[in-house]
Amino acid sequence: MRRGSRQTGVRLLIAAGPTREYIDPVRYISNDSSGRMGFALARAAHGLGADVTLVAGPVDLEAPEGVEGIAVTSAREMQEVMLKEGRRADIIIMVAAVADWRPARFSKRKLKRTNGRTDKRTIELKQNPDILADLCKKRRPGQRIIGFALETADLMKNARKKLKAKGCDWIVANKANAIGAKVSKAILMNKDGKKISLPKLPKEDLAVVILSHVMC
Ligand code: C5P
Repeated sequence: MRRGSRQTGVRLLIAAGPTREYIDPVRYISNDSSGRMGFALARAAHGLGADVTLVAGPVDLEAPEGVEGIAVTSAREMQEVMLKEGRRADIIIMVAAVADWRPARFSKRKLKRTNGRTDKRTIELKQNPDILADLCKKRRPGQRIIGFALETADLMKNARKKLKAKGCDWIVANKANAIGAKVSKAILMNKDGKKISLPKLPKEDLAVVILSHVMC
Protein backbone atom coordinates (compact mmCIF):
# COMPACT_ATOMS: atom_id res chain seq x y z
CA MET A 1 0.00 0.00 0.00
CA ARG A 2 1.40 3.38 -0.91
CA ARG A 3 0.80 5.90 1.83
CA GLY A 4 -2.70 7.30 1.44
CA SER A 5 -3.87 4.64 -1.05
CA ARG A 6 -7.49 3.49 -0.61
CA GLN A 7 -8.26 0.22 1.20
CA THR A 8 -11.96 -0.05 0.33
CA GLY A 9 -13.45 -3.41 1.24
CA VAL A 10 -10.60 -4.45 3.55
CA ARG A 11 -11.99 -5.67 6.89
CA LEU A 12 -9.79 -4.66 9.79
CA LEU A 13 -10.26 -5.81 13.38
CA ILE A 14 -8.39 -4.00 16.16
CA ALA A 15 -8.22 -4.76 19.90
CA ALA A 16 -7.17 -1.79 22.03
CA GLY A 17 -6.84 -0.54 25.58
CA PRO A 18 -6.34 -2.44 28.81
CA THR A 19 -8.38 -5.29 30.19
CA ARG A 20 -9.72 -5.23 33.71
CA GLU A 21 -9.71 -8.32 35.90
CA TYR A 22 -12.03 -7.97 38.88
CA ILE A 23 -11.04 -9.25 42.33
CA ASP A 24 -14.35 -8.26 43.94
CA PRO A 25 -17.19 -5.93 42.79
CA VAL A 26 -15.07 -2.78 43.24
CA ARG A 27 -11.41 -3.80 42.85
CA TYR A 28 -9.49 -4.98 39.84
CA ILE A 29 -6.09 -5.66 38.25
CA SER A 30 -5.33 -3.60 35.15
CA ASN A 31 -2.67 -1.37 33.57
CA ASP A 32 -2.12 2.18 32.30
CA SER A 33 -3.02 1.61 28.65
CA SER A 34 -5.02 4.60 27.33
CA GLY A 35 -6.15 2.89 24.11
CA ARG A 36 -4.76 5.86 22.16
CA MET A 37 -2.62 3.81 19.75
CA GLY A 38 -5.45 1.42 18.84
CA PHE A 39 -7.97 4.23 18.40
CA ALA A 40 -5.49 6.12 16.19
CA LEU A 41 -5.03 2.98 14.07
CA ALA A 42 -8.82 2.59 13.78
CA ARG A 43 -9.26 6.23 12.72
CA ALA A 44 -6.42 6.04 10.19
CA ALA A 45 -7.65 2.74 8.70
CA HIS A 46 -11.19 4.10 8.39
CA GLY A 47 -9.73 7.17 6.69
CA LEU A 48 -8.15 4.84 4.14
CA GLY A 49 -11.54 3.31 3.37
CA ALA A 50 -11.22 0.09 5.42
CA ASP A 51 -14.22 -1.43 7.20
CA VAL A 52 -13.03 -1.21 10.84
CA THR A 53 -14.20 -2.94 14.03
CA LEU A 54 -12.59 -1.74 17.24
CA VAL A 55 -12.80 -3.93 20.34
CA ALA A 56 -11.76 -1.91 23.37
CA GLY A 57 -11.24 -2.51 27.06
CA PRO A 58 -12.23 0.24 29.52
CA VAL A 59 -10.90 3.55 28.09
CA ASP A 60 -11.96 7.20 28.08
CA LEU A 61 -12.15 7.40 24.29
CA GLU A 62 -15.05 7.30 21.84
CA ALA A 63 -14.83 5.02 18.81
CA PRO A 64 -14.01 7.21 15.79
CA GLU A 65 -16.95 8.05 13.53
CA GLY A 66 -17.61 5.30 11.00
CA VAL A 67 -15.84 2.66 13.12
CA GLU A 68 -17.84 -0.10 14.80
CA GLY A 69 -16.93 -0.06 18.50
CA ILE A 70 -17.36 -3.07 20.81
CA ALA A 71 -16.70 -2.51 24.52
CA VAL A 72 -15.30 -5.33 26.64
CA THR A 73 -13.92 -5.51 30.17
CA SER A 74 -11.90 -8.66 30.84
CA ALA A 75 -9.36 -10.60 28.77
CA ARG A 76 -11.76 -13.51 28.47
CA GLU A 77 -14.49 -11.22 27.09
CA MET A 78 -11.96 -9.72 24.68
CA GLN A 79 -10.92 -13.20 23.59
CA GLU A 80 -14.51 -14.25 22.89
CA VAL A 81 -15.24 -11.17 20.76
CA MET A 82 -11.90 -11.29 18.93
CA LEU A 83 -12.26 -14.96 17.99
CA LYS A 84 -15.81 -14.36 16.74
CA GLU A 85 -15.08 -11.13 14.84
CA GLY A 86 -11.71 -12.46 13.68
CA ARG A 87 -13.40 -15.03 11.43
CA ARG A 88 -14.37 -12.35 8.90
CA ALA A 89 -11.36 -10.02 9.25
CA ASP A 90 -8.69 -9.61 6.56
CA ILE A 91 -6.29 -7.92 8.98
CA ILE A 92 -6.19 -8.17 12.78
CA ILE A 93 -4.19 -5.82 14.99
CA MET A 94 -3.77 -6.75 18.66
CA VAL A 95 -2.57 -3.55 20.29
CA ALA A 96 -4.51 -4.19 23.51
CA ALA A 97 -2.54 -4.38 26.75
CA VAL A 98 -4.21 -7.60 27.85
CA ALA A 99 -3.77 -8.42 31.52
CA ASP A 100 -1.75 -11.60 31.62
CA TRP A 101 -3.29 -12.67 34.91
CA ARG A 102 -6.69 -12.61 36.58
CA PRO A 103 -7.69 -13.47 40.13
CA ALA A 104 -8.27 -17.22 40.36
CA ARG A 105 -11.46 -16.53 42.32
CA PHE A 106 -13.87 -13.60 42.11
CA SER A 107 -15.38 -12.60 45.46
CA LYS A 108 -19.03 -11.54 45.07
CA ARG A 109 -18.65 -9.62 48.34
CA LYS A 110 -16.19 -6.76 48.76
CA LEU A 111 -13.13 -8.15 50.54
CA LYS A 112 -12.80 -6.92 54.11
CA ARG A 113 -9.70 -5.83 55.98
CA THR A 114 -8.29 -8.55 58.19
CA ASN A 115 -8.60 -7.25 61.72
CA GLY A 116 -5.72 -8.14 63.98
CA ARG A 117 -4.78 -11.73 63.04
CA THR A 118 -2.56 -10.86 60.04
CA ASP A 119 -1.71 -7.89 57.84
CA LYS A 120 -1.23 -10.07 54.77
CA ARG A 121 -3.72 -11.06 52.10
CA THR A 122 -2.86 -13.43 49.25
CA ILE A 123 -4.64 -13.19 45.93
CA GLU A 124 -4.06 -16.23 43.78
CA LEU A 125 -3.74 -15.41 40.09
CA LYS A 126 -4.54 -17.52 37.05
CA GLN A 127 -3.04 -16.96 33.61
CA ASN A 128 -5.32 -15.38 31.01
CA PRO A 129 -5.59 -16.76 27.48
CA ASP A 130 -3.09 -15.42 24.96
CA ILE A 131 -5.54 -13.91 22.48
CA LEU A 132 -2.94 -13.08 19.82
CA ALA A 133 -1.50 -16.61 19.85
CA ASP A 134 -5.03 -18.09 19.64
CA LEU A 135 -5.94 -15.84 16.71
CA CYS A 136 -2.75 -16.88 14.91
CA LYS A 137 -3.49 -20.58 15.49
CA LYS A 138 -7.00 -20.16 14.07
CA ARG A 139 -6.08 -17.81 11.24
CA ARG A 140 -7.73 -18.33 7.90
CA PRO A 141 -5.68 -18.38 4.69
CA GLY A 142 -4.55 -14.93 3.63
CA GLN A 143 -5.39 -13.32 6.94
CA ARG A 144 -2.71 -10.95 8.26
CA ILE A 145 -2.11 -10.61 12.00
CA ILE A 146 -0.13 -7.88 13.74
CA GLY A 147 0.92 -7.84 17.38
CA PHE A 148 2.54 -5.25 19.60
CA ALA A 149 5.36 -5.83 22.10
CA LEU A 150 5.90 -3.47 24.98
CA GLU A 151 9.10 -4.20 26.84
CA THR A 152 11.06 -2.83 29.78
CA ALA A 153 14.27 -4.66 28.74
CA ASP A 154 15.84 -6.36 25.68
CA LEU A 155 13.24 -4.80 23.39
CA MET A 156 14.40 -6.27 20.08
CA LYS A 157 15.26 -9.71 21.41
CA ASN A 158 11.94 -10.10 23.22
CA ALA A 159 9.92 -8.67 20.34
CA ARG A 160 11.52 -11.07 17.86
CA LYS A 161 10.84 -13.96 20.25
CA LYS A 162 7.16 -12.92 20.47
CA LEU A 163 6.83 -12.58 16.71
CA LYS A 164 7.90 -16.22 16.39
CA ALA A 165 6.22 -17.68 19.46
CA LYS A 166 2.82 -16.14 18.75
CA GLY A 167 3.02 -16.73 15.00
CA CYS A 168 2.06 -13.24 13.79
CA ASP A 169 3.10 -11.58 10.52
CA TRP A 170 4.33 -8.33 12.06
CA ILE A 171 5.25 -7.17 15.51
CA VAL A 172 5.46 -3.53 16.51
CA ALA A 173 8.04 -3.17 19.29
CA ASN A 174 8.04 -0.21 21.65
CA LYS A 175 9.39 0.64 25.05
CA ALA A 176 7.22 0.47 28.15
CA ASN A 177 7.10 4.28 28.41
CA ALA A 178 4.76 4.24 25.36
CA ILE A 179 1.94 3.00 27.60
CA GLY A 180 -0.51 5.82 28.25
CA ALA A 181 1.75 8.31 26.36
CA LYS A 182 0.80 10.56 23.43
CA VAL A 183 3.99 9.83 21.46
CA SER A 184 5.87 6.62 20.77
CA LYS A 185 8.99 5.37 19.01
CA ALA A 186 8.40 2.02 17.34
CA ILE A 187 10.30 -0.65 15.47
CA LEU A 188 8.40 -2.85 13.05
CA MET A 189 9.56 -6.39 12.35
CA ASN A 190 8.03 -9.01 10.14
CA LYS A 191 8.39 -12.78 9.92
CA ASP A 192 10.59 -12.49 6.81
CA GLY A 193 13.24 -10.59 8.78
CA LYS A 194 12.32 -7.07 7.63
CA LYS A 195 13.03 -4.42 10.28
CA ILE A 196 11.86 -0.80 10.09
CA SER A 197 12.86 1.72 12.79
CA LEU A 198 10.52 4.68 13.05
CA PRO A 199 11.24 8.02 14.70
CA LYS A 200 9.41 9.27 17.80
CA LEU A 201 5.97 10.33 16.55
CA PRO A 202 2.56 11.30 17.91
CA LYS A 203 0.49 8.10 17.97
CA GLU A 204 -1.88 9.53 15.31
CA ASP A 205 1.03 9.88 12.86
CA LEU A 206 2.59 6.60 13.91
CA ALA A 207 -0.71 4.86 13.12
CA VAL A 208 -0.61 6.10 9.51
CA VAL A 209 2.99 4.95 9.06
CA ILE A 210 2.35 1.53 10.66
CA LEU A 211 -0.64 0.94 8.37
CA SER A 212 1.39 1.95 5.32
CA HIS A 213 3.71 -0.98 6.07
CA VAL A 214 1.42 -3.67 7.44
CA MET A 215 -1.49 -3.21 5.02
CA CYS A 216 0.53 -3.39 1.79
O1 C5P B 1 1.87 -9.24 26.85
P1 C5P B 1 2.75 -9.54 25.66
O2 C5P B 1 4.02 -8.79 25.66
O3 C5P B 1 2.88 -11.01 25.37
O4 C5P B 1 1.91 -8.88 24.43
C1 C5P B 1 2.35 -9.04 23.10
C2 C5P B 1 1.16 -9.10 22.19
O5 C5P B 1 0.29 -10.15 22.60
C3 C5P B 1 0.29 -7.85 22.11
O6 C5P B 1 -0.09 -7.70 20.76
C4 C5P B 1 -0.90 -8.17 22.99
O7 C5P B 1 -2.07 -7.51 22.54
C5 C5P B 1 -1.02 -9.67 22.82
N1 C5P B 1 -1.53 -10.39 24.01
C6 C5P B 1 -2.68 -11.14 23.91
N2 C5P B 1 -3.14 -11.84 25.00
C7 C5P B 1 -2.47 -11.81 26.16
C8 C5P B 1 -1.28 -11.06 26.29
C9 C5P B 1 -0.85 -10.35 25.20
O8 C5P B 1 -3.28 -11.16 22.84
N3 C5P B 1 -2.92 -12.50 27.20
